[in-house]
Amino acid sequence: MNIQELTVESTRAAIAEKQFTATHVVEEFYKKIKAEDGETHAYLTLCEERALRQASRVDEMARNGDTLPPLAGVPIAIKDVMVTKDVRSTAGSKILQNFIPPYDCTAVERLEAAGAIVLGKTNCDEFAMGSSNENSAYGPVRNPRDPSCVPGGSSGGSAAAVAAGTAIAALGSDTGGSIRQPASFCGVVGLMPTYGRVSRYGLIAFASSLDHIGPLTRTVKDAAMLLRTIAGHDPLDSTSADVPVPDYEEELAKPVKGLKLGVPQEYFADGLDGEVRAAVEANIQKLVQDGCEIMPISLPHTAYAIPTYYVIATAEASANLARYDGVRYGHRSTQARTLSEMYRKSRDEGFGAEVKRRIMLGTYALSSGYYDAYYLKAQKVRTLLARDFENAFCQVDAIVTPTAPTAAFKLGEKTSDPLAMYLADIYTVTADLAGIPGISVPCGQTKTGLPIGMQILGRHFDETTVLRLAHAVER
Ligand code: GLN
Repeated sequence: MNIQELTVESTRAAIAEKQFTATHVVEEFYKKIKAEDGETHAYLTLCEERALRQASRVDEMARNGDTLPPLAGVPIAIKDVMVTKDVRSTAGSKILQNFIPPYDCTAVERLEAAGAIVLGKTNCDEFAMGSSNENSAYGPVRNPRDPSCVPGGSSGGSAAAVAAGTAIAALGSDTGGSIRQPASFCGVVGLMPTYGRVSRYGLIAFASSLDHIGPLTRTVKDAAMLLRTIAGHDPLDSTSADVPVPDYEEELAKPVKGLKLGVPQEYFADGLDGEVRAAVEANIQKLVQDGCEIMPISLPHTAYAIPTYYVIATAEASANLARYDGVRYGHRSTQARTLSEMYRKSRDEGFGAEVKRRIMLGTYALSSGYYDAYYLKAQKVRTLLARDFENAFCQVDAIVTPTAPTAAFKLGEKTSDPLAMYLADIYTVTADLAGIPGISVPCGQTKTGLPIGMQILGRHFDETTVLRLAHAVER
């Protein structure tokens, strides 16, 4: 068994045909993690006992000749912003260093119910705030394709685990690009579903109107299989949508011929690296050869996306992070003599610099006197950005762009300049603001061998078209 080559489908099939057991697969993955993850640092916590218990359940089913569930025996890594029962969940923050949740995130519960095996929790930027994984309180992740480079963020650990072969698939979260951008930097597939498609129950909140859970995988088909499993209404999340979930896998087989693709001029302007542009344009041409029709389009409010995102995301974060007060859970300072000193010191000791920066920005944007000028204004621009997409989707079936303006950058390259870091998500934040689905699929590499990703965006709840096109690019 070459675990480096396993996919969701091949793993389940091999276990069903008794070529190997789920227990053996899990043991092989832990061996690899222990031997190789020291440098990459994709994992923060392993949960071997839980994984082996689940593996023996799968093995018993196989022994009994039962039909195996769709993800039987598939080892998966979970970004540490999703809570896992009895398994430490830190969100990459010191404030949750010893937090052991009493319940499972819905997406994780659904994966396990489908036979998947949770190997452990992956490193990420603190509370998912970042684009390089350098904001983790537990140290950065390195890009398996070039250890001097960042893996992207904030789901850097999940992307790196899949790229390094220390998991077959992973879950990440995307608030402004954090699934797609690290997928692009590490050369894997990353899918952000429509807002509401996947329950957020048990996702440690960053910005609730922007947070999405989605898969990172080796293949588009694997992403389709994971999405099918985790998608669908959940009574525990009032924003989760009661919309039927299609059989994405079946849809992948349909040809892309006749689909109309929009190419937005704003995403191919200054600041786009030449090699990235060339790779994405070459793949657009491939889609034309497959029978797609290309239309130049304009998304005129794109220039306002980054400032809009950073007002709304920080405002929501400042409200969501108020719960870390040292009282209910998480770190409590031992240095405090009064109640208010306990609040202040617990937060001061527990949060990192970027989180504090965002709480201050967000609190300011929401404060009386500035609310109208910043938060309310940003919400209005958000509507304009969403309308840009609505108008475009009257003419085209999907939109194709680069995922990020550059390939992976060096560790430390942008840490002293938060604004430069924020621009790493210039092509991804728009979809989060509009709530539409998007995927990043590998589409080439730079001369130095760094992966390049192409982004495909679709209409609300039309992950099917996005996946079909990504599948065509992948071939
Ligand atoms: N890089 C963006 C930020 O720092 C996006 C993060 C995310 O999608 N979680 O907010």
